[in-house]
Amino acid sequence: MSSYSFLDVGFTYRSLKPEIDAAYARVMDSGMYIGGRALTSFEQSFATYCQTEHCVGVGNGLDALVLPLRAHKIGPGDEVIVPANTFIATWLAAARTGATLVPVEADPVTMGLDVQAAIAAITPRTRAILPVHLYGTPVPIQPLMDAVEGRDIVVLEDAAQAHGAEIGNRRVGALGHAAGFSFYPGKNLGAFGDAGALVTSSLELADRVRMGGNYGSHVKYDHQEQGGNSRLDPLQAAFLSAKLARLDDWTARRRATAGIYLEMLEGLPELTLPGVPPHSLPVWHLFVIRHPQRDVLRARLLERGVPTALHYPIANHQSGAFRAEYGHLALPVTEEICRTCLSLPIGPHLSREDATDIAGILRDCVLQI
Ligand SMILES: *Cc1c(COP(=O)(O)O)cnc(C)c1O
Repeated sequence: MSSYSFLDVGFTYRSLKPEIDAAYARVMDSGMYIGGRALTSFEQSFATYCQTEHCVGVGNGLDALVLPLRAHKIGPGDEVIVPANTFIATWLAAARTGATLVPVEADPVTMGLDVQAAIAAITPRTRAILPVHLYGTPVPIQPLMDAVEGRDIVVLEDAAQAHGAEIGNRRVGALGHAAGFSFYPGKNLGAFGDAGALVTSSLELADRVRMGGNYGSHVKYDHQEQGGNSRLDPLQAAFLSAKLARLDDWTARRRATAGIYLEMLEGLPELTLPGVPPHSLPVWHLFVIRHPQRDVLRARLLERGVPTALHYPIANHQSGAFRAEYGHLALPVTEEICRTCLSLPIGPHLSREDATDIAGILRDCVLQI
């Protein structure tokens, strides 16, 4: 029996070892261990990749959301609209500002934010909306942008799972006012440690975020505000530059696997495949199917060498972190996704043969339930 890995974070190092090792040596030899050319060069390349004017490297993906919210002076008494179905970091970023969270249901087809429901949730207190391009599938946020036009509401994309995803020929990161990315090692573009970035075409916002992550200063020892420390490590920036050159190839592999899964798994009883919005090109950070007997299916797959994962098993409003405040909410679509979701292996480490084998095993298992 063969067995497949769900995720292989070492794969990218093995396939780029000479470039990564050279990047390491360059930064070490430069003597610049904070800031410097490795950082500015990555920031420029990533801004270009995202079709935005500016990129500010920060310490991690959470800070890439917290810092722009802080820069907008969002705080207690304000409302921030968040998708109910997302990784908890989206909620934590909004909660960190002291604002009240307004969770919005998932679209049952894409499992991402229901955009019409988000528009309906806007009130005079709304100051920010955080659409998440969950699993690598872009949220069609143009109607949201139209709805906030002329109002003091920032649309901050959480693009942590969607590097390079497109909708209507535009890249995520360039759809809203700003976007936060994570380069956690398991993400589509991952560092070899923690890292994140904010992209935006607003110079003012980019400057404020840079200041916020650099002790409130642009000029050494001239502190304009009570900032924190959240900077992108130049070693990680150098690694990310090497990896960015390969990202589109790796995304193509993810798309090939997703294509095989979508084709071979269509029409199976009780199995729901992930839907994508029109005119969109997802990057398939995750491939999430749904089945009412998810746990049985999961165990059968594992017996046959196919590891799976759950994204996410507990809804944020029912988590220990948030249930005291938000546990009373009824979010049935999100709750159903948590009960039935199952993530299949996907990533640049999987070949077409692997994907075909996995889909074949899954077909057998579903038909035997
Ligand atoms: C990974 C992730 C984050 C947080 O990124 P970190 O780099 O782990 O801080 C935020 N939002 C989503 C949707 C994520 O998947």
